[in-house]
Amino acid sequence: MLEHYEPMKFFYWFEKITQIPRPTFHEEKICDFLEGFAQSHGLTYYRDEANNILMRVPATTGYEHEPPMLLQSHMDMVAEQEDDVDFNFMKDPIRLVITGNELHAKGTTLGADDAGGMSVMLAIADSPELPHPELELLFTSQEEVGLTGIQKFDCSLIRSRRMINLDCGRMHNISVSSAGAMTCVVEETFQTAAADGVMLSIKLAGGIGGHAGLEIHKNRACAGNILGEILVEIGNAHTLRLVSLDTPRRPILGEMNASFIVEKAQADPVVRAVKATFAQIKKRYVHTDPAIHLEIMAEPCMHSKALSQDDSMRVAKLMYLLRTGAKKHDGENPSIILVSSVITAVTLADSNFRFDYTIRAVEDRDKQLHGGLLREILGLLNFSMRIEKSYPGWPKSPQSDMVALIDKVHERIFGYIPGHQYIHGGIEVGVIVGAIPEMDAVGMLPSMANAHTPQELLYLDQVPDYWQLITSVIAEKRAPVRG
Ligand SMILES: [Zn+2]
Repeated sequence: MLEHYEPMKFFYWFEKITQIPRPTFHEEKICDFLEGFAQSHGLTYYRDEANNILMRVPATTGYEHEPPMLLQSHMDMVAEQEDDVDFNFMKDPIRLVITGNELHAKGTTLGADDAGGMSVMLAIADSPELPHPELELLFTSQEEVGLTGIQKFDCSLIRSRRMINLDCGRMHNISVSSAGAMTCVVEETFQTAAADGVMLSIKLAGGIGGHAGLEIHKNRACAGNILGEILVEIGNAHTLRLVSLDTPRRPILGEMNASFIVEKAQADPVVRAVKATFAQIKKRYVHTDPAIHLEIMAEPCMHSKALSQDDSMRVAKLMYLLRTGAKKHDGENPSIILVSSVITAVTLADSNFRFDYTIRAVEDRDKQLHGGLLREILGLLNFSMRIEKSYPGWPKSPQSDMVALIDKVHERIFGYIPGHQYIHGGIEVGVIVGAIPEMDAVGMLPSMANAHTPQELLYLDQVPDYWQLITSVIAEKRAPVRG
């Protein structure tokens, strides 16, 4: 269906990839397909147990002495579908739909993230007429769940010391930096005891939520922080014993439920106090989360097993003190965030408490520093934590030959220097640069939108410009050394 679009080879391989099921953790088939590609094109390759695959495309004539270049993308995709759509990501091919200039899928994610990057790499390897140095093509698995595939790959196999990541950036806007992350989990099983009184249930909803990294600068409401603030204030003046907490598992928490028990005589004053406190808090979010609202309901105690007042306050203080938001900005360009943190989930059910918190930082030393401070704050409240996942950031290199190369080629083709984008999200370049510190990297990808949602789309008319740019970049020789 895409055979009439240019560049033909890109769209040929794109369509092939969309026919192969490849949700994260199920990369077997797509990796088999890539292995078949390497074999049928006579490329040497290495496939590991985690289904990462590295292929080598030899230098073309005249490029034998140019330094090799790594191109990298990921093979898994986010499997999201609309509620009323009958689709099985484990076996069904993606159903492509073209609307004007947009390529999308019928009711599901398209997977252009990162079929877009993979198709560019396959199309280059499949175009013997294109001049280029030795290319290493690395396709990774399990990217979408915390960059776990690349962390299992033996990066010492990579010979290149310059690379293009094809999973970030967009047309006319290349990526030069990304954040690392540390995901921390606090878990505790509390002693509970029967409690008499009135159970109050709070439903906080209507917050916009959003991506924990890419939208953290928007100062959106975190339902966990707001409920923490309310509960601390109530618990300072009244008895309060927590029964349950729950949030959707979503990055920025736009909603949350809580229930707790108060003494019967205090129920009415507490309800009034909650409403008054929330009215104050709501004013802080008139611009960012205008629809945020709170409901509070009283019901008789049915299952009345609750935490002690002390433990309830420990939990409330934790939710209040560990803030979702940006923590450190770049001095020269304050729109660049260097450190942030986010509460991603809070649950308390049947006395089991779990609190998920992620620190993002471009520099590793910031990540360590903030991780240490987090441990200390938790210690003061008598909690401990474990680190569930951690991967390094990709700090912008002050003198990047790759950025200079792309700037130069882009200016020659389009007449101006592309934008440079700092991503406050995790990109696999961080892991590669962590393993190979001298790696010089940039990210560039054809423009797409709404990744990870059924509204995901690829802009068809941007691919030819992208193709011209990347094929010109790989064809560019090093400037001759003056003697
Ligand atoms: Zn991606």
